Amino acid sequence: MKVFVLNCGSSSVKYQLFDMKDESVLAKGLVERIGSDDATLTHTPVGRTGTKRVLSILDHTTAIGQVLRMLTHSEYGVIKDIAEIRAVGHRVLHGGPAFTQSVLIDEEVKHAIRDCIPLGPLHNPANLMGILASESNIPGVPQVAVFDTAFHQTMPKHAFLYPLPYILYERHKVRRYGFHGTSHRFVSGRAAEILEKPLNNLKVISCHLGNGASIAAVKNGKSIDTSMGLTPLEGLMMGTRSGDIDPAIIFYIMNRENLGLEEIDSLLNKHSGLLGVSGISSDMREIEAGTEQGNNRAKIAFDIYEYRIRKYIGAYAAALDGVDAIVFTAGIGENSPMLRQRVCQGLGFLGVTIDLEKNDSKGKEVDITGESSKIRVLVIPTNEELVIARDTMEIVSAIRKGNLRICYK
Ligand code: ADP
Repeated sequence: MKVFVLNCGSSSVKYQLFDMKDESVLAKGLVERIGSDDATLTHTPVGRTGTKRVLSILDHTTAIGQVLRMLTHSEYGVIKDIAEIRAVGHRVLHGGPAFTQSVLIDEEVKHAIRDCIPLGPLHNPANLMGILASESNIPGVPQVAVFDTAFHQTMPKHAFLYPLPYILYERHKVRRYGFHGTSHRFVSGRAAEILEKPLNNLKVISCHLGNGASIAAVKNGKSIDTSMGLTPLEGLMMGTRSGDIDPAIIFYIMNRENLGLEEIDSLLNKHSGLLGVSGISSDMREIEAGTEQGNNRAKIAFDIYEYRIRKYIGAYAAALDGVDAIVFTAGIGENSPMLRQRVCQGLGFLGVTIDLEKNDSKGKEVDITGESSKIRVLVIPTNEELVIARDTMEIVSAIRKGNLRICYK
């Protein structure tokens, strides 16, 4: 079965086409600057030379139409006919409290995704646009929504509730939802395979460190806590997001700097984190280079970043009442030996040691556990697209067999 996986942003579409016979990727690509006359479509048929085109692409329907044209292109295509695509899987940011797992998209699901727009105002409208655009391009093909929040729906109430007036939870669904669920699910499952232990008897701390970053405590295959909250702003320090701060800072700065709501929102989401502290960049590569060149602000940014991950690992070791494995994933987790080494150096109290030689690796799955370590330390490249493709295939196969479970509240 060929499964088309889409991750739609407000002006971009990322895609991969999977052949689920062997879970191989046939083609992948990206449309950027949708809404303009100079949008770009970068398309790569896996194992062959790709192409980059500048096109007028004014909406998502045209973007997906162009991608489908490319997938069947005489030179760059990988399928003969669009009809070979049997299902489409969509990444959807916010499923609110309704979705505990991936679902087949119908009218009710689209309504529910729309209902979650206040919780995910930047992403959910774009995700929905992608769903509608895909429906109009390939009508009749089943579509599946895979939510970033779903994996964390197993958190107990004491972990997901904020100490705010309870009425805000009842009235406005104010609670912790957590994100990167697809990634945390994938790497914790893969950790169990690597350790050759049953996932339902394993305590994993999963560190997803990309531009956005979050950490999850996964007990017996279920998320019991995670650092992102109602929105992706809470938790770890990120590329441009502050992560945890004293909420009173918001009122203080608004007052002192005479800022409005939009400005403070932008300050915390787009001008803080590594970028805000270093003044150089949100990109960890540049922060590391700055540190090595003796740039003091880059060094402080790196120190805060590393220290906060370590604090969360300590907290989640307590939340889990022990840890079997710590996993590093996503851009920084997979590619920064320096960050992994610094985080693990401070975890001696948990009995963590790492093998520095094995740690000297980038972008590969590797067990970096030190010889005397009491806890396994793993680097596992994440693969959210594969999880989306697998969920999509599973749901579509269940429909075919007539035993699809309704899995939303
Ligand atoms: P996104 O959240 O956008 O998917 P990624 O998972 O691609 O982000 O991670 C992006 C981050 O990974 C950036 O901060 C980038 O600097 C970092 N990164 C990528 N390669 C390296 C590297 N070799 N060393 C350190 N950091 C890296």
